[in-house]
Amino acid sequence: MLTVHSTVTMLLGAACAVSAIAVAQDPKPERKKGTIVEGTVNVYDYNPKESGTDPDIAGQLATIGPVGQQWYQHVMTLSNPYFEGRAPGSDGIAAAANYVEFWMRQSGLEPGFPAKEGESERTTYRQPFELPGAGPKVIDSAVAIGDRALKSGDDYIVLGSSGSASVTAPLAFAGYAIESGKDGYTSFKDEGEDLKGRIAVFFRYEPINQEGVSRWSERRWSEYSAAAPKLEALAKRGAVGVIMVTPPDARDARRGLETTATSRFGDRLSIPAMQLSIEAMDALIQQADPDARSLAEWRQKADEGAVTTVPLKDSVQVTLKAEVTTGTISTDNVGGVLRGAGSLAEEWVIVGSHYDHVGFGNYGADPRNRGKLHPGADDNASGTAAMLCMTKLMADWYASDDAPKDRRSILFMAFSAEEIGLDGSRHWTEHPTLKQESINAMINLDMVGRLRNDELVVGGVGSAKGFKDWLRPRFEESGLTIRADPSGRGPSDHASFYSAGIPVLFLFTGVHDVYHKPGDHGWTVNPGGAAKIIALSEAIAQGLVSEAKLEFEGKTAGSGQDRGYARVRLGVSPGYGETGQSGVVVEAVSEGTSAADAGIKKGDVLLAWNGELLEGAGDMMDQLRKHAPGDKVKIKLRRDGKELEVDVTMKASKSRG
Ligand SMILES: [Zn+2]
Repeated sequence: MLTVHSTVTMLLGAACAVSAIAVAQDPKPERKKGTIVEGTVNVYDYNPKESGTDPDIAGQLATIGPVGQQWYQHVMTLSNPYFEGRAPGSDGIAAAANYVEFWMRQSGLEPGFPAKEGESERTTYRQPFELPGAGPKVIDSAVAIGDRALKSGDDYIVLGSSGSASVTAPLAFAGYAIESGKDGYTSFKDEGEDLKGRIAVFFRYEPINQEGVSRWSERRWSEYSAAAPKLEALAKRGAVGVIMVTPPDARDARRGLETTATSRFGDRLSIPAMQLSIEAMDALIQQADPDARSLAEWRQKADEGAVTTVPLKDSVQVTLKAEVTTGTISTDNVGGVLRGAGSLAEEWVIVGSHYDHVGFGNYGADPRNRGKLHPGADDNASGTAAMLCMTKLMADWYASDDAPKDRRSILFMAFSAEEIGLDGSRHWTEHPTLKQESINAMINLDMVGRLRNDELVVGGVGSAKGFKDWLRPRFEESGLTIRADPSGRGPSDHASFYSAGIPVLFLFTGVHDVYHKPGDHGWTVNPGGAAKIIALSEAIAQGLVSEAKLEFEGKTAGSGQDRGYARVRLGVSPGYGETGQSGVVVEAVSEGTSAADAGIKKGDVLLAWNGELLEGAGDMMDQLRKHAPGDKVKIKLRRDGKELEVDVTMKASKSRG
């Protein structure tokens, strides 16, 4: 069924093509006086209910006007599948960066950054930076039995935690490779048994029954089935290589081969690690087993715990070769300058928005939606579109007779990697291309696409002396209901600037039911509302570039800003857990954080939070949002196959008031 919005959207589709470039001034419709509601807003709870839809199409189009049309065209473009949900490192985000740069040039902006740090001349629209944690990449691999080579992708894949090495050795069967399972189950007789110099073959998951389901868990698989501790157990017993295989007839959707990207189990090994298909492994084990038993027979024995590690025929020599790199992801902040004039030309205002999103939901999203496109129309094609509309509006104003003769310069920026941890804005504030003291203020547009009941959150109104009063007439002129939050902190890029002692404003229309979900489509946004928000941003920017310089008010952070998404921060970087495997793998622990104080280590797997299961990073974020600084939390984790519980005292995340 078509919603009002989609009817308008269709009409718009047609209209946009006509007026793509010319962003004429909006006809100023009769506007009711705006109201201001002061007070802190918890942005994760701020989800205003839609008060019914306005069937007045003509009125809608009038409200939208040419700026709303242009905005909508940007949103529909940036949120279409071609841009792949704009995850850093993807082709989609590279295309989005080109799109943003194109429109900055269309607005006549000059390059925003110097080509090299420390240079003064600005010659490029890009500020590249590196992100850790790029998935492993296979440069070369081989699996051969004697001189019979197996086919990569069909018969085998290289596991994501494989080391770069090449070995030729006989096999040993290691069952489920579980050191200490349920009811004393173990796959090993002792610590150092006969795996030395052999390639260990092990089953994924845990003992199963005739129906192919776990003997140890009601849910899918228990924590004993985790692959990471199995790999560690085999490596420390001297295996020179490992082969993982799915037990035949196990009831799990993942019967086929994983990919290298989805099989990063725990730390990287120093030995080659492969997964073979059930068919390829069945043929191999029958060849290597003196009794030529099938893989299904071996599974049976392992299910009953009737077997520990068994060396197989020395004459059957298997070669495993893997060459794997783990690199960094390179991504760009995109920036353009609208040069000021007169006595204020060397002072600056920054207008920014993040243009990245979570791609196919491999991070920053509900694990149940992993692999699905997350278009990110509201988050944050909407803010990027508003920023681009602002480039044209301000450039036209600067070129007009209305512009004051003394006006500050404006750096428009699209940040990358916000969803990962404010990385793009933090990179800029740690590698600034402008003197901090020359910056009057930063306006951050993040999720401005779903205005409901004309209610808008504006955060940061307390981040400069007298800022609230300075803003009041502009708020009233807007005709909107402004939820004026004094705090300059929050789960978005303005927090990086606030922490650096720069006055900030954060414009936000609230969360909603498709926040960070595959449903955040272009047709769900509100162009008319966005036009009003852009008009307000324009009015504020016109003041910030020409009026008295603001004086920062608030607490700055020490160096090394944080990655806060909540009022508190744990301080771990969650890694890619095993797909379908519960728990949060700790990729890194930041110094001086709650986690570091509690002794949480890299490689730990966080299993439960105050007794509540942690499925994935999403659950951890949900838990974090419930806490305040000083709260005590019990976290159950697994380290080297052993479970332990640690007491954690939550520390404030520097990114929120
Ligand atoms: Zn966002």
